[in-house]
Amino acid sequence: MDPQDIIRLIDERHIEVVRVVFNDNANVARSRNIPAKYFRDVVLPNGVQYPSAMLSVDTAANFVVAAGAGFQGGYGSWLLKIDPETFTVIPWAKNSARVLADLYTLDGEPVSIAPRTVFRRVLGELERDGYQALGAAELEFYIFKQYDTAGYEPTWTGLQCYSEVKQGEVDELLYAIVTNLRDVGIDVEAANTEYGPGQFEVSINPGWGISQADRAFTFKAAIKEMMQQRGLLATFMTKPLNGRSGSGSHFHHSLYDKVTGRNVFYDASDPDGLSQTVKHFIAGQLAHARALSALANPTVNSYRRLRPYTFAPSNVTWGLENRMCMIRVPGARGQGTHLENRLPGADMNPYLMMAAMYAAGLDGIRRELPCPPPIVDQDAYALVDAEPLPRSLGEALDALNQDEPLVDLLGPEFVKSYTALKRHELQRFEDHVTDWEIDEYRELF
Ligand code: GLU
Ligand code: MG
Repeated sequence: MDPQDIIRLIDERHIEVVRVVFNDNANVARSRNIPAKYFRDVVLPNGVQYPSAMLSVDTAANFVVAAGAGFQGGYGSWLLKIDPETFTVIPWAKNSARVLADLYTLDGEPVSIAPRTVFRRVLGELERDGYQALGAAELEFYIFKQYDTAGYEPTWTGLQCYSEVKQGEVDELLYAIVTNLRDVGIDVEAANTEYGPGQFEVSINPGWGISQADRAFTFKAAIKEMMQQRGLLATFMTKPLNGRSGSGSHFHHSLYDKVTGRNVFYDASDPDGLSQTVKHFIAGQLAHARALSALANPTVNSYRRLRPYTFAPSNVTWGLENRMCMIRVPGARGQGTHLENRLPGADMNPYLMMAAMYAAGLDGIRRELPCPPPIVDQDAYALVDAEPLPRSLGEALDALNQDEPLVDLLGPEFVKSYTALKRHELQRFEDHVTDWEIDEYRELF
């Protein structure tokens, strides 16, 4: 869409307000809401200022000095410049539109620590080697009733995923999700209940390049807002209920030759139909798994999901059609050959998770890392010799910072800033005495 198309759409659809939105390193969608006239005259051609200090806030909005330029620099302004391709009318909000933006310094340099810039950087590396990336995040989430009162109740009860009767109880929600997402250009492939009370899973069609992350980002924002309008709470927190299913965000993805359009993961002459390229790519994701976990599983809560016999991975494994493994190669071959990496939790920042996934795989291709044999018809959880995934955010951050190839591909400035933010969040958690400790020990000792 070019700027003229945007102006035409603003007129035709009587748009009054345009939200200029991006995703920050705390994984919070931030928006500046701009009246349509000012948007057309000023923001569309020039961008809108955004305080650089806001890129150093953690998940509780604390300023983490080490994550940003520091107070001594005065925390000047940066600029949000819109990406015209992403302009959409918002069907669930009155006379409003939404457009995604990239962060630049006032000198016109991309801000290297901004998530969309980090993913663009990795996409640029893929392109340099002749690849185009296609992918989709398969998101799971919970929707609860009683938003903003004490306690939350699930919108449907029991564990019956795919049950038509249970889905009937929440049909209005499923219908709204499918139709509204379609109207912002995200086609749903399937929407259903999942294996937790109030849990849902919605798979969407894949997107090329940056759009695959934009879709997951928009998806989360759309569902949260649509449910909020109904007095409900949709949460992509990975493990919101003790003893219940976690919410994953399995990442389906593949690489294509940018000239011929051929899927480079497929090789008809291989007994499994898998090319040498995908084997190196898989080897890269295995080699960097512990480090990339810091981006695929970015909160203290994410690590409670990675347990055996939950359909989430617990160790660094790959297999053919095997849902116990970290990487599953689904049955499709030919142009549809792709990987499903099951590591990410639903709380991931799509730009960062995808950047790390592709960076890890690309490093495997560039260094021609050898791939171990796949796990076939075996219980991967029971493989005692397999390398375990990190047990905590702290372990994952250590692994990331020790992983030079991944740090180089993602950008050292970004990794430094992200680590400072996350370590601050972790420190606050480690200082906090939990309800579990109090219940367990207070009377006992
Ligand atoms: N909820 C599981 C997870 O956390 C996935 C279930 C499924 O296979 O879709 O990864
Ligand atoms: Mg699922």
